[in-house]
Amino acid sequence: MKVIVKIKKDSIKKNPNAGRDTYHMPMAWETTFTTNLKPPDLPSWLQEYVREWSLGETSSIDTKGIIGIVDDRFIDYAKSVIESGNRFSIESHRDIQTIRSMTHEPEYHYEYENPKVNCSHCNAMVKVNDISEDEFDGDHLFQICPECGTLDTFDFEYEKFTYGKNL
Ligand SMILES: [Zn+2]
Repeated sequence: MKVIVKIKKDSIKKNPNAGRDTYHMPMAWETTFTTNLKPPDLPSWLQEYVREWSLGETSSIDTKGIIGIVDDRFIDYAKSVIESGNRFSIESHRDIQTIRSMTHEPEYHYEYENPKVNCSHCNAMVKVNDISEDEFDGDHLFQICPECGTLDTFDFEYEKFTYGKNL
């Protein structure tokens, strides 16, 4: 006999993101530094982040770099450069990327009950959530009995959510 796995009534929640199909994702911070020190004067760990350096219009040296992680070592070094009378400026920014998802968010979220179902091979009563599924031929999802390992020995289906009936 087919078991219907029911939706837990008290788990039904309106999805606050219902119908939404775009998301705004903050990207990683990117920090640019500029200093009047020449690249060879920078500590070796910082030299690898240098992107360009040039003699500026006033013959002052302008070394620019981009660093991904601003840590204490970087900040302490920047302070020590400034304290020694040199120039070291830091600017951080991050971009926002808009992601468009292929599927609309559902109107409601809900959970299913976890009834026991009968394995027609070994006769064990197994909780639905304990049954794993695997794909062998790409198309069909097989259910595997956790007791005997036989495939597709259960007869159940999930209740469909219908507005008006479930709510
Ligand atoms: Zn079984």
